[in-house]
Amino acid sequence: MRKAYQYQLLPTTEQKTTMERWLDMLRLQYNWLLAERFRWWEENRCDINACPLICHLPELRDNPDYYSQKRSVVPLKSNRPWYKEIYSQVLQDCVTRVKLAFDRFVKGDSKGNRSGRPRFKGKNRYRSLTYPQIDISDIKNNRIHLSKIGWIKLVLHRPIPDGFKAKTAIVTKKSDGWYVTITLVAESVPTSSVEIIPTDDNSIALDLGLEKFAALDTGEFVDIPQHFRHSEEKLAKLQRKVTARKKGSRARKLLNRRVGRLHQRIARARKQFHFETAKQILQKAPVVFVEDLAVKNMSKRCKPKQDEQSNYVANGQSRKSGLNKSIADAGWAQFIEILSFKAESAGGKVVKVNPKNTSQVCSNCLNIVPKTLKERWHDCNRCNLSIDRDTNSAILIKKVGLGVSLTIKRSRVKPREAHAVA
Ligand SMILES: [Zn+2]
Repeated sequence: MRKAYQYQLLPTTEQKTTMERWLDMLRLQYNWLLAERFRWWEENRCDINACPLICHLPELRDNPDYYSQKRSVVPLKSNRPWYKEIYSQVLQDCVTRVKLAFDRFVKGDSKGNRSGRPRFKGKNRYRSLTYPQIDISDIKNNRIHLSKIGWIKLVLHRPIPDGFKAKTAIVTKKSDGWYVTITLVAESVPTSSVEIIPTDDNSIALDLGLEKFAALDTGEFVDIPQHFRHSEEKLAKLQRKVTARKKGSRARKLLNRRVGRLHQRIARARKQFHFETAKQILQKAPVVFVEDLAVKNMSKRCKPKQDEQSNYVANGQSRKSGLNKSIADAGWAQFIEILSFKAESAGGKVVKVNPKNTSQVCSNCLNIVPKTLKERWHDCNRCNLSIDRDTNSAILIKKVGLGVSLTIKRSRVKPREAHAVA
């Protein structure tokens, strides 16, 4: 079992300057290694698979890879002796980061999703130092020992649980100070108890929405806290103030710091809200059905659309951008992650359900009742069910989760018939 605990660090001024200097050096090294990768890519990549008989052959270089870049750390230290100051494993980790960023760009992750071209990091964009190997004995007396920095005071607001080994430590510079995240691994793997089987009684279903944070199949709702909207307005106001100031000015720098703090406060409040909501929901039932949102796909940009004269026409992106923003705002992905984690540690589970048709089918008679996104109320003219649209979806999600197929009994209400009723 893996856990990550984050503690606030209280470094001395000297330690702060050391860490800041390291971050800057590592940033430059990161950029250099990344540039090396790009250079090879641009010089040696070729679109055609055959070449004319007479052509200039560029001098082929070895493709810089993870291992050659790792080896390059040795000459780096002799050419630029000030890099010797950085703890070797932290410096090596910089190479790993370049590898990860570049692999995600070229090959994609395990699912084949490719990321965009990695960016060079500007000032303050390289924010963390990774110590890949630490020991539990490095943490004692409210201090943590980090090689080549020394003992740093930390706020041990909760003790490290028994039976866990410390694995890695990541020191991060945030807008309100320094933090360390310690990854903890349990030595003994707890044997998971009997797999819980979802039934009608022990389960609950959620439909995540934009107006309400969630609708439960019981007819209850979880509201989005109002203060999120207020902080957002405040953020927009501050943001406008920042752009009004001259670039590089002191006023702008100070304002930017305030923006950073506000962002942090919003993120923390949201996380807190997610934890509290997860707790409330799990008190109702141990098994939770949620839509398999694939939030990422929903947030994808719309494809450009062209008419016959190959002019670009409206593709609905601007409409979707509003939705995108709200999706990011609600942070469903984070919520589901927290909910799954909480459920598992309490012996329950979260089951993701294919949401296909859950907004269009009637939860009582399983006939299709077509409605647009705007229609917030579900009125079935077959069985006269009349409930909130989201509650209807939540009931359906529960049904699908319990094994009801939405494709068997459905029959489309004939347009003419629907017209007559309306
Ligand atoms: Zn119905």
